[in-house]
Amino acid sequence: MNGAGLPQISTAPPPAAARLRDVASSPVREILALTQRPGVISFAGGLPAPELFDAPGLREAFAHALSDERFGSTLQYSTTEGDPALRRAIAERMLARGLPTDPDDVLVTSGSQQALTLIAAVLIEPGDAVLVEEPSYLAALQCFQMAGARVVPVPCDDDGLDPDALAALVRREQPKLLYTVPTFHNPTGRTLPTERRRALAAAAGRLGLWIVEDDPYGELRYSGEPLPPVASLPGAEDRTIALSTLSKVLVPGLRIGWLRAPAALRRALVVAKQAADLHTSTIDQAAAAHWLGACDLDAHIAGLRAVYAPRRDALLGALPEVLPEGSRWTRPDGGMFVWVRLPDGWDADDLLKRALEREVAFVPGWPFFPAVPDRATLRLSFTTHTEAEIATGLGRLRDAVLDSRR
Ligand code: PMP
Repeated sequence: MNGAGLPQISTAPPPAAARLRDVASSPVREILALTQRPGVISFAGGLPAPELFDAPGLREAFAHALSDERFGSTLQYSTTEGDPALRRAIAERMLARGLPTDPDDVLVTSGSQQALTLIAAVLIEPGDAVLVEEPSYLAALQCFQMAGARVVPVPCDDDGLDPDALAALVRREQPKLLYTVPTFHNPTGRTLPTERRRALAAAAGRLGLWIVEDDPYGELRYSGEPLPPVASLPGAEDRTIALSTLSKVLVPGLRIGWLRAPAALRRALVVAKQAADLHTSTIDQAAAAHWLGACDLDAHIAGLRAVYAPRRDALLGALPEVLPEGSRWTRPDGGMFVWVRLPDGWDADDLLKRALEREVAFVPGWPFFPAVPDRATLRLSFTTHTEAEIATGLGRLRDAVLDSRR
């Protein structure tokens, strides 16, 4: 109280909203900053290889979108749902992946990351439970936490999430949704087998649950046969929001992603997007639509696979000589990541310190755990280095492992 008996008014501006307090800034982003020092061979980021970006094709696509006949609309405000030509191209792509899709089912988003934010805004009330794989994609965890969700891990094994564990969890937690990356998972590289996809879809149908199926990596397959999307399987058809993106198969800088939502949710998602950004960049959508019409995405992806497959093989082939005895790691059929579990007693943060001294980097696995972190885990990405660089980087990592033993 001041002399006049009035409450003291603070002159400091008010604090950030409470819902942000428990959301850690991504330690992965901070680690990435450390690993970007010149000379460091980094297996840390989940980045596509820039030498494979189709710069000439995109230059042509932007020139077309900015031509005298088009710039009046391609530089103008536009509809929230997205560029009609792009939505048609996306619907065709989804059909080719085994998911019959009408262009009206598609909402273009600013990266698939925005789709996660919109879903959280539309479905989650503070305190609601959201089920996720353990470990899980970190920025999805952040989205759900920002919306005030209780994030609950579903038990997972080498094949991904265990659908049998789901019924008990759903009864106990009454979750709004289950978030899954069933194909070439980030961070583990795992793929959910078809029988588990079927069991998951049937369980979602039975248990009354939304499924968010996030698939940025599915087309980057280097071995094995494509599996059906969960969204296409009995039980899941009317309750799965399917997400994908051009980030991993074309370029991430365009920030073109999308979601395919059941009719019941579409209106609310469009309203949430209006509130977020009105619409995704018109010029970027127009360029993407032109690129997809003028260029051959299948051929482009075949080119990516031809480069990434030997990089994956170089990494997997060398790991037995590099990691401490008793380590385990995944052998992904596609995507960008290999997930390592060091023997008990190892701490990936300690190993990273030694590794950075040797000018090699990776991401420790603990930030990807929604509940109890496993500090002996780490993620290695194999996409951005040649086989020769991978061999050099892994030689340094072997030295860092030896340093840690001393
Ligand atoms: N989901 C997963 C599983 C990812 O790994 C990523 C990118 N790392 C995204 C979504 C977001 O990708 P974008 O916003 O570039 O489409």
